[in-house]
Amino acid sequence: MALSSRVDFIVMGAGVAGLRAAIELADSGDVLVVTKESLGESNTFYAQGGIAVASWEDTEDVSLHLDDTVSAGDGLVFGPAAEVLVSEGPARVAELIEWGTKFDRESGKLLRTREGAHSRPRILHANGDATGAEISRSLVAQARAHARIKFAEWTMVSRLLVEHGRIVGTELASAGPEGDSSFSSQSVGSRAVLIASGGAGQVYSDTTNPPVATGDGIALALKAGAELADMEFYQFHPTAFSFSGAPRFLMSEALRGEGAYIRNDRGERFMERYHPLLELAPRDVVARAIAREGLDEKGVAHPVFLDMRHIKDVDLHKRFPGISAFLARYSLDLHRDLIPVRPAAHYLMGGVRTDLMGRTNVKGLYAAGEAACTGVHGANRLASNSLLEGLVFGARAAKAMLEDDLPMGSADRTKESPSNLDLTSLEEMKTQVETLQRGMWADGGLLRSEGLLIEGLRMQTQIAASLAPYDCGAEKCRAMLEAESLSCVARAILFSALARKESRGAHFRNDYPKRNDAEFQKHSIYTADEKVRFEDL
Ligand SMILES: Cc1cc2nc3c(=O)[nH]c(=O)nc-3n(C[C@H](O)[C@H](O)[C@H](O)COP(=O)(O)OP(=O)(O)OC[C@H]3O[C@@H](n4cnc5c(N)ncnc54)[C@H](O)[C@@H]3O)c2cc1C
Repeated sequence: MALSSRVDFIVMGAGVAGLRAAIELADSGDVLVVTKESLGESNTFYAQGGIAVASWEDTEDVSLHLDDTVSAGDGLVFGPAAEVLVSEGPARVAELIEWGTKFDRESGKLLRTREGAHSRPRILHANGDATGAEISRSLVAQARAHARIKFAEWTMVSRLLVEHGRIVGTELASAGPEGDSSFSSQSVGSRAVLIASGGAGQVYSDTTNPPVATGDGIALALKAGAELADMEFYQFHPTAFSFSGAPRFLMSEALRGEGAYIRNDRGERFMERYHPLLELAPRDVVARAIAREGLDEKGVAHPVFLDMRHIKDVDLHKRFPGISAFLARYSLDLHRDLIPVRPAAHYLMGGVRTDLMGRTNVKGLYAAGEAACTGVHGANRLASNSLLEGLVFGARAAKAMLEDDLPMGSADRTKESPSNLDLTSLEEMKTQVETLQRGMWADGGLLRSEGLLIEGLRMQTQIAASLAPYDCGAEKCRAMLEAESLSCVARAILFSALARKESRGAHFRNDYPKRNDAEFQKHSIYTADEKVRFEDL
């Protein structure tokens, strides 16, 4: 597909946030949705458990949803953002149903389940445990029906074009084996650009996120002058599948919502030692409890298990068809077997700092969804709030892009420079990325300390230096873009984690194990000069 050299709006990412924004924008302009792989390949597609939303006709549940969101965020949720989420959420989800999303129902009534730290069952789900795929399917269909939305698949935003402090467009490049061979790199001018490129789970060696989640949008925004917020808060999902040679497939929180126990290798249900809500305690508490139970005093790893063998009144195969089919590949069965699990990096609470309308501090640049930070999740996201966040803040960012009504930017081609990448340097880069990921797991993971974080920064500085000589010219290659993005995100996480000398939500420091409201009930702001400051949003 030949890309036009100008389009009103460029949306980087085709997950829930990008697609919802594109649909809003298309009534008033031409939209180009760019996605690094095929349309389905996003965190959105893999979402299992569901979407949290207060019941339409129940105002009490709206305020309880707000309370649950605020309390999961451990003192750092930005109140106005959470109010927007829970109060606009029902309308956005009703709209999604109108557009053809089929949530699970019984006798015509929507089924609602409960997940960790929710005071009520308010999670809608689809096809049992394939909620994200269903939402993605219906949003893609809705977007495809708009003549003014064009898709560029297997294409990546490789650079944000800045002129006089304003974003005027992006550089695009082919992104993979099925990349469009009619172009290798092209500048596209626009009136505004939305970063909806999702999270960065690939910065850790253990993650539930797909390979596209390398934080490209966050890194490109930082380079273009945008501020990042709360980058130290990475949520580790407590229960990713842990089996030699198997992928870190997510064992959804909804399993615990349906009554799963967590047991150590001595068969003990140990959560009572960690939190009164037991298995339904906030994610960070469960993840750290599993990490601790899974290691003995000599540092030897022991397995931890999900146990649903006592559940007799629910057909677990019907309720969790995707998870059941996955487990069958390893001859495991939810009704019969203990399921081995351990934590994995799952969701980035931080991201590109925005206001409540998705505006960043750079003119013409907007962000929404997991790549953005409105402060809505604070220090820890409430389960199933992120699909809702993508819908609500994706729509809002689009409204701001329309309201701001910036003139069309003219994007001049980036100056050519020759590539110095060959197969050997690509292999070396791959090795550096693997070292980066393992280093982040060891030094910037679930349990942090000053010593570990400084060691992590030392290693990441070396890796950044080893990447510096590589250059694939204006025709940026995917491996290079992703390595640079991961390196940039890793340093943002480590610097922010080092500056936050307390433990709060998903950020736990062995050397500062307590929450310190007097000094740190504030958001960390990270800038391109690698400085961190703390302030209110
Ligand atoms: C296994 C799993 C289960 C989950 N379960 C739930 C759940 O049950 N409920 C819930 O609320 N949340 C869940 N989440 C979290 C939730 O899915 C995500 O936070 C949310 O979908 C993010 O949406 P997004 O639109 O911001 O980004 P994504 O859906 O991740 O989309 C990002 C898009 O950006 C594109 N992209 C990235 N880099 C570039 C680039 N350089 N150029 C062009 N395009 C680019 C990608 O190709 C992709 O299209 C889950 C996440 C995972 C991984």
